[in-house]
Amino acid sequence: MSKDIVVKKSKLNKKGVFAIRNFKRGEVVLKWKSKKVLTKEEVDRLPESERHHVSHYTPGEFLLQQKPERFVNHSCDPNTKVGNNCDVAIKDIKKGEEITSDYSVADIQLHFKCDCGSKNCRKYI
Ligand SMILES: [Zn+2]
Repeated sequence: MSKDIVVKKSKLNKKGVFAIRNFKRGEVVLKWKSKKVLTKEEVDRLPESERHHVSHYTPGEFLLQQKPERFVNHSCDPNTKVGNNCDVAIKDIKKGEEITSDYSVADIQLHFKCDCGSKNCRKYI
């Protein structure tokens, strides 16, 4: 496990990823360990619970996220974005803050109710 983040209980979900040091905007918070590339057909065959952990990779290819990156919760006001198989800080993140990402920018059809609590929460993704 990285010394930058820790997985623990979250208010957003059962588990979440939290910063254990300060991050500057633009810094890589979490490098994904995912190496498993799936085709669209393989993604379609995954159970719904697993499909939540699929991320766009290249056109027509998808990554099944591993731990700990799959514990990064969705927020409508996220503090990271996905880039180059990493979660990259889009604002300064303080030690102890939960790491969040906007799932809806991924190229996957995901539909879920959101309860992230941010001011601009879209409620239904
Ligand atoms: Zn929300």
